[in-house]
Amino acid sequence: MKKILLIIFIVLIECGIFAQVPIKDSILIKGGKVIDGTGAPARSLDIRISGDVITEVGRLKPRQGEKVIEAHGMVVAPGFVDIHNHSERGFANDPTARSQILQGITTIAVGPDGGSPWPVGDYLNWCEKQKLSTNVIAFVGHATVRQKVMGKDFKRTATQSEISQMAELVEQGMREGAVGLSSGLEYDIGNPSTTEEIIELAKAAAKYKGIYMSHVRDEADLVMDAFREAIRIGRDAAIPVQISHIKLGTVGVWDKAGDAVKLIDAARKKGVDIEADCYPYDAWSSTITVLIPSRRHDDPAAVKRGLDDVGGGANVLITSCQAHPDYEGKNLDQIGALIGGNAVDAYIKIVRDGGAGVVCKSMKDSDIRTFYLQPWVMVSSDGGIGMRHPRGAGTFPRVLGLFVRERKWLSLEQAIRKMSSMPARRLGLNDRGTIKKGMKADIVIFDPAKIIDRSTMTQPMLEPVGVAHLLINGQSVVRDGIVTGDRPGAVLRHQ
Ligand SMILES: [Zn+2]
Repeated sequence: MKKILLIIFIVLIECGIFAQVPIKDSILIKGGKVIDGTGAPARSLDIRISGDVITEVGRLKPRQGEKVIEAHGMVVAPGFVDIHNHSERGFANDPTARSQILQGITTIAVGPDGGSPWPVGDYLNWCEKQKLSTNVIAFVGHATVRQKVMGKDFKRTATQSEISQMAELVEQGMREGAVGLSSGLEYDIGNPSTTEEIIELAKAAAKYKGIYMSHVRDEADLVMDAFREAIRIGRDAAIPVQISHIKLGTVGVWDKAGDAVKLIDAARKKGVDIEADCYPYDAWSSTITVLIPSRRHDDPAAVKRGLDDVGGGANVLITSCQAHPDYEGKNLDQIGALIGGNAVDAYIKIVRDGGAGVVCKSMKDSDIRTFYLQPWVMVSSDGGIGMRHPRGAGTFPRVLGLFVRERKWLSLEQAIRKMSSMPARRLGLNDRGTIKKGMKADIVIFDPAKIIDRSTMTQPMLEPVGVAHLLINGQSVVRDGIVTGDRPGAVLRHQ
């Protein structure tokens, strides 16, 4: 009798009577080209989702009552993972993260460049309560713990006891779920630190299997030394290193991407686990005075040096100027000619009259291309909710539309790998970043013929086009191009 019951039970399981989840929770994505995130070629496949998990990938028929998403002509890919994002505070204003999900982003890593929420655990709890549309993961910031320990007296090297206290805070952050240590060594608080200080703190993160992610000490003439420092930290602390928004930001180092690649490849060959991310823009936007770090805005020699560093006045475009609205849309060379002088005269006059917003060329496209072609370089935005640079609303569609479709630098498969499995693996997310049975159902469906950014330096918030559907943990946050308002994001604590 027992045997018969067992056989009946097995037959029922085989028929899927017990295994089948209620149809209402089941979604079939049908007819799309699946690019699975590993770099493997696109295949025409269907995907079944039950709850928050991918349960089947293959040629599938809809079940009765099952929700079907038609994906003919579309690419179906893992949701994008943004390893460098500044939405930490923006989530409070917009928990749906509209500008992020319209790009296809499903997981956002906050706390880069050395500045993180603190305490990390409280922040992650807040995210959970707030209910966000995207998944979120956090870094613990070097500048954050440095300021906790040193207060306002941070413009010096730290003592051994201060470094030990910082290391304790890094460990606390890691225990509370941070994925690693971030630093911003070019900024005020991070800059006075020694390499030894960073190594010691990186070791604290390494104890918890964290990574070290750095906006390196110099992105201008001394950038190669800054890369060498990052390599040394990786080697001495035995920690994976992520170079943030890799960049050659001044004329003196333009065209040297090949040298940077050689340096990093050599370190990788020696066993240092170092990778990088790169945003797809060759210009920054800020206020005009950042061009002259010495702040000698009236000194023609200092101003000339600053302008030379960015390739001259033609590369500095005025985007807003209260005192002289007629300068908007013109570059410093043009304004110099207007006032009967040169770009230096124009700069000095504009700053004297109250300043201006500028867009400034910082990189060469050929260098960006060289970086994007490296298998260890992934895509990140360095953007976030409300960012006043077009990368905040345009990064991922821009790579897919401009670099893949128009310029043909990369295949779709390569680009998607750089947006999904690579950053997911870097962040230790083993159940996200690829499309496979058993993975979490973070899925973007986009039109490869249409996807493109529309945000510009003067209109940084313009939304991209092309993302038709976005599912996060199996729930639609974008449906037929419309934001649904659902907030199914998970808080991801590193373990
Ligand atoms: Zn940065």
